[in-house]
Amino acid sequence: MMSEKKGFIVSHAYIIASPDSEQREKKALEIACSFLCESKERRPCMECSACRNVLSGYHPDVIDISRKSDDKGNKKREIQVEQIRQMVSDAYVRPSQADKKVYIIRDAGTMNPTAQNAALKILEEPPEHAVFILCTDSAESLLATVRSRCTVVRLSGEKAGNESELAEEYISLAAKKDEVKLCVFFGKHEALDNERASAFVSDVRFCLNGFISTRKKYYGFTREDAFRLLALCDRAEEYLRLNVGSKHVMGLFCVLTV
Ligand SMILES: [Zn+2]
Repeated sequence: MMSEKKGFIVSHAYIIASPDSEQREKKALEIACSFLCESKERRPCMECSACRNVLSGYHPDVIDISRKSDDKGNKKREIQVEQIRQMVSDAYVRPSQADKKVYIIRDAGTMNPTAQNAALKILEEPPEHAVFILCTDSAESLLATVRSRCTVVRLSGEKAGNESELAEEYISLAAKKDEVKLCVFFGKHEALDNERASAFVSDVRFCLNGFISTRKKYYGFTREDAFRLLALCDRAEEYLRLNVGSKHVMGLFCVLTV
């Protein structure tokens, strides 16, 4: 059950795979925001009260599932099967505030096979209002049956790529509006394959959303710049999904940045 929405594939279950726990958590929150955002224009806006509550961990319809601590305060090795069973029964209860209820399972790879199997049925046939986001260092740490029911989002790092550095470099050049250096940059990286180009675009989006939500100063960027480049990311992702060659997509990126 998937449908396409501007910018990303809407699904009811995601696997966010990256060895960087901070990065995958940010991505999970970004996806949660896109379901719960109240903006009429750009979703996720990262600014409305719903988005802000998601980002600060206070949204009542975002439910966090993570390893519990033992008596000594150390994290247990596994997410217990009871936690998953509890999540499953809770998922049939309607959300309290929004239209959707988003479950974020942290370190999903620490679910043992019994726990993963307990989640299978609901991942396959979830209640209409439920969304599941499984965060893990590697998608392969989950059973193939679980993977097949989820949209896998591989963040850079999982494949030892350097896309996130490229994204940073790109944004710094875009901020300086340095046409010549941008052309050199894209000339150097035009040979990225489609998968790495997708990772690059996804990292650019990630940096831009971070900029918008934290309101930090970022290479002298304005918010308008950030929104404009996000729209460009939407377009690039659309093309990559339609299997337009990455060389053309990167060319488009280069031309439309300045
Ligand atoms: Zn919002």
